Amino acid sequence: MRGNNTEGILPEIRDVAIGGDATVECRNLGFRYGRRDVFSDVSFTLMSGVVGLLGANGAGKTTLLTILATLRMPKSGQALLLGEDVTSVTGRQRIRRSLGYLPQTVEVMGSSTVFDNVAYAAWAHGVDSSEVGYAVERALEAVGLMDVATLRARKLSGGQRRRLGIACAIAHQPRVLLLDEPTAGVDPLQRVRLHQLMTLIGKKSTVVVSTHLADEAARVADYLLIMRDGGLAFAGSPQMLSECGMPGMDVARVIETVMAGER
Ligand code: ADP
Repeated sequence: MRGNNTEGILPEIRDVAIGGDATVECRNLGFRYGRRDVFSDVSFTLMSGVVGLLGANGAGKTTLLTILATLRMPKSGQALLLGEDVTSVTGRQRIRRSLGYLPQTVEVMGSSTVFDNVAYAAWAHGVDSSEVGYAVERALEAVGLMDVATLRARKLSGGQRRRLGIACAIAHQPRVLLLDEPTAGVDPLQRVRLHQLMTLIGKKSTVVVSTHLADEAARVADYLLIMRDGGLAFAGSPQMLSECGMPGMDVARVIETVMAGER
């Protein structure tokens, strides 16, 4: 995986590729709301693995994820998922079959069961109807919701609802999984379970996880994208980042210093 680091920041870290096929490629990507730039000139390449997308509130993480999820068009540059351009109609159709997305706010069909919510998501992503049942069970098992499969979704707690959103995003086994703050509101035990799930999925797919928690990213991420000051302040492995810190400083602390602009 490789990426650009904002000019002048962390100049010693540059374009290092890790093996495998590229699943996500952004080239000089930019987005603005009205006249206000959120970010510009963002470039990186991702392969399979868990990617921690970090940045303070307002840094642009959600905006970047919605572009990759094909829900917003970039204002400049290019974003390719599995070789398909997000700005092309046919490209978006192809991407969506292989894409899972957990938005920041999960919408559920409240009067349908947990099982049926995931079944619908699987079917909508093209899972064959003969395989939907198995796909749902596998997804609910993975997020620890099998015991509430027959409950109406509106009865779930906030953390359970978040996990239902993740089950809906993974039921079709996407090649690219985008998770916007997946562990927000999730209890510590389930959080550990979700970290293990991300690691497992990351063995075959690209899992981009947005978080503002440096400790979480340090624990699960194989690769880090840190957004700051309208761009990408760092793209690289945790090992590469820790080499930039003070000797003995752990990765989470180095992440925090980069996010805060102290480095
Ligand atoms: P993050 O996910 O890192 O917290 P966001 O992508 O949500 O950041 O937001 C980036 C910036 O864009 C923020 O300054 C935010 O206020 C602004 N923003 C987000 N959504 C909108 C919108 N719909 N209209 C205008 N500005 C927005």
